[in-house]
Amino acid sequence: MSWDFSTEDDFQAQLDWMAQFVREQIWPLETIWHELGLEGLSRAMEPLREQVKERGLWAAHLPPELGGQGMGQVRLGLMHEILGTCPIAPLAFGNAAPDSGNSELIALAGTDEQKDRWLYPLLAGDLRSAFSMTEPDTPGSDPTQLRTRAVRDGDEWVIDGRKWFSSNGSIADFLIVMAVTNPDARPSQRASMFIVPVDTPGVEIVRDVPTMEHPWEQYGGYGGHAEIAYESVRVPAQALLGAEGTGFVLAQHRLVPGRIHHCMRWLGVARRAFDMLCERATYRHAHGSLLADKQTVQNWIADSAAEMQAARLMTLHAAWVMDTQGASAARTDVALIKFYGARVLHDVVDRALQLHGSLGYSTDLPLEQMYRFARAARIYDGPDEVHRQSVARQILRGYSPPPDDTPSEHLPTRRAQARERFAHLLDAVTAND
Ligand SMILES: Cc1cc2nc3c(=O)[nH]c(=O)nc-3n(C[C@H](O)[C@H](O)[C@H](O)COP(=O)(O)OP(=O)(O)OC[C@H]3O[C@@H](n4cnc5c(N)ncnc54)[C@H](O)[C@@H]3O)c2cc1C
Repeated sequence: MSWDFSTEDDFQAQLDWMAQFVREQIWPLETIWHELGLEGLSRAMEPLREQVKERGLWAAHLPPELGGQGMGQVRLGLMHEILGTCPIAPLAFGNAAPDSGNSELIALAGTDEQKDRWLYPLLAGDLRSAFSMTEPDTPGSDPTQLRTRAVRDGDEWVIDGRKWFSSNGSIADFLIVMAVTNPDARPSQRASMFIVPVDTPGVEIVRDVPTMEHPWEQYGGYGGHAEIAYESVRVPAQALLGAEGTGFVLAQHRLVPGRIHHCMRWLGVARRAFDMLCERATYRHAHGSLLADKQTVQNWIADSAAEMQAARLMTLHAAWVMDTQGASAARTDVALIKFYGARVLHDVVDRALQLHGSLGYSTDLPLEQMYRFARAARIYDGPDEVHRQSVARQILRGYSPPPDDTPSEHLPTRRAQARERFAHLLDAVTAND
């Protein structure tokens, strides 16, 4: 029996180094990275990346033969918890979304030629990528309804459709596009993925969609969510990523571990908001006492601590299932943490914001930004409702209707059965009366 919550000393030393490095070297940049612009940010990251590489922590999500560390999901999760405290920290560690997930996809399904052309430059930070699946006119939560089509024409594929919310699409060098290749196949086998260079004729980056996270009009900013038109986009047959019809299978490979990383990063954000919540409670005085002395505030602190602890253990457990039994075995655990973790993040940030009053609502603190970030977490990589549905369906498979629709726990029925079974005991009691 092994049931162990400890971290090996050598990896704990790495985690301690990361925590200090992120806090001292990257947190300060977070307040000016918009001013730095994309190039300035890259320059600022360069020496930091070198240090990360020297520590053997670069691109930790990939297997060693591809320049990664082959760490496994539990260690990656613990690492992401630290990186999540700062939106730009993953850039210094070579595992920023969406490039990290895209590099995993190419590592998993790419040909040698695709790896040479796209994967290695992506890992080196020389290229940027986007994942282009969601469409404005079909429900992203049900990708079997995708309309973007790819039709084979001789040695080429011709792609037509419209996507949006392709994160980093406006700064990407290439796009991984999900398109229907066989509309008559079973729903899960209709789509395929293609690697499309962004300068291919017919690809038009229409705009970065303004959002709660980036409410101002922008184009070409890091973290923008692009709307992209694909009109008669011709790519060679070699642009197909993986086998034809495997788009959904590949998407699952990308999304399942990605959700563990998201959840651990959210815990990093939640922890930072929680620290702000507790700090505020220690000095703000209102109605005759410190906020720390009010029961509501104490409840918020205790509830937040309990919820974060629960989300953390659930997420690390899902990571452990994935490491020990594989991605399919972890699917329900991962669905569970996706909606639960997003809710915990949202609630902790909300309480911290509330306790800071108008200061929390203002842009003088990062809480309002965290709040917008938390809101998105309940939508991307599958909305809460879809994950709840999938968890409930999985759970319900373990149940069946009781005989005659009488609840299994129906007391009169059970009592009658018990009377029959234990009649000799009851008779003995009656005889003694
Ligand atoms: C910040 C951000 C980044 C993103 N990045 C990317 C990206 O890089 N690439 C990409 O392709 N996409 C990306 N997306 C898109 C995202 O994956 C989709 O928004 C998501 O899958 C939901 O799809 P939809 O927006 O079309 O909503 P819909 O599918 O239309 O769903 C809308 C709502 O309907 C309800 N609903 C849906 N299904 C059910 C159900 N079964 N039961 C009950 N209610 C239900 C839910 O409340 C849901 O929120 C991003 C989104 C955000 C917000």
